[in-house]
Amino acid sequence: MSRGVDEYPRTLAEFEARFATDDACRAYLVQLRWPAGFRCPRCGATTAWPVRTVLWQCAACGRQTSVTAGTIFQDTRTPLTTWFRAMWAVTSSKTGTSALGLQQVLGLGSYQTAWAWLHKLRRAMVRPGRDQLSGRVEVDESFVGGIGGAQGRSTATKALIVVAAEEVGYGVGRIRMRRIPDASADSLQGFITDVIEPGSLIHTDGWHGYDRVERSGYRHDVTFLRGEDNLASELLPRVHRVISLLKRWLLGTHQGAVRQAHLDYYLDEFTFRFNRRTSRHRGKLFFRLVQQAVAVEPVPYARLVQPGGRRPRRRHKG
Ligand SMILES: [Zn+2]
Repeated sequence: MSRGVDEYPRTLAEFEARFATDDACRAYLVQLRWPAGFRCPRCGATTAWPVRTVLWQCAACGRQTSVTAGTIFQDTRTPLTTWFRAMWAVTSSKTGTSALGLQQVLGLGSYQTAWAWLHKLRRAMVRPGRDQLSGRVEVDESFVGGIGGAQGRSTATKALIVVAAEEVGYGVGRIRMRRIPDASADSLQGFITDVIEPGSLIHTDGWHGYDRVERSGYRHDVTFLRGEDNLASELLPRVHRVISLLKRWLLGTHQGAVRQAHLDYYLDEFTFRFNRRTSRHRGKLFFRLVQQAVAVEPVPYARLVQPGGRRPRRRHKG
């Protein structure tokens, strides 16, 4: 598809005009799922003909494929136009939306449906095989409070997260974050190795959990100030700015109603939005979300509720 003007809607009016019908939504999914043209997921052939406007039949093996098969939209009985409005609601505001907010905007019958939709969309917010951070990167851990309880209560245990933030001048570049079981070297170094390019300069405090940074192929800049939180936030200011924004978002948009088991997916959503915060058009986030939604496999409701730590897998590249 052409890069540029047609890639994504820029305003609500453009969005509504463009995605008014299921056919229009489907055509957009086709563009994003098969940018180089249809490809049969069974045999890889590229010649096919349309069947009843929603299916493609492979000219080589006869297999019929719909553009939504093997994506988060698979088996949905909801019109695509409603899914598109959900994706627009999630991406068009700077703070996203809660399940309750989405239920109201779309007029969905149940809170559970809205909740499940948001979780399905969050699975699409991490691009499989995304780039690692690089350059000079601050890393620190923090407890995120009030996680796990009922709405508005703070009786729950706190979750430990680790955050990496690229230093760009005085500002923050891209970020990554993850919930970790403890602040051990296994947990911290595992995260660093996964999300930061070897050779980068890692900036941490003097916690022994960061002792393996140099041995693992990174340069290491240590600032010793363990235990004095107010100063730590001054010496690792970018990470702590990100953490305070995250906490504000969890308490504001989601009113603290986030369970430990689901926290990773909220971190994904926060990261998705944060890393695109300088996009001139919110429509670009919409474009990315739809693009990734047709690239990750569907997750059954049972696994949304009880995640068990699985990450979205890349769909078989056919
Ligand atoms: Zn085929």
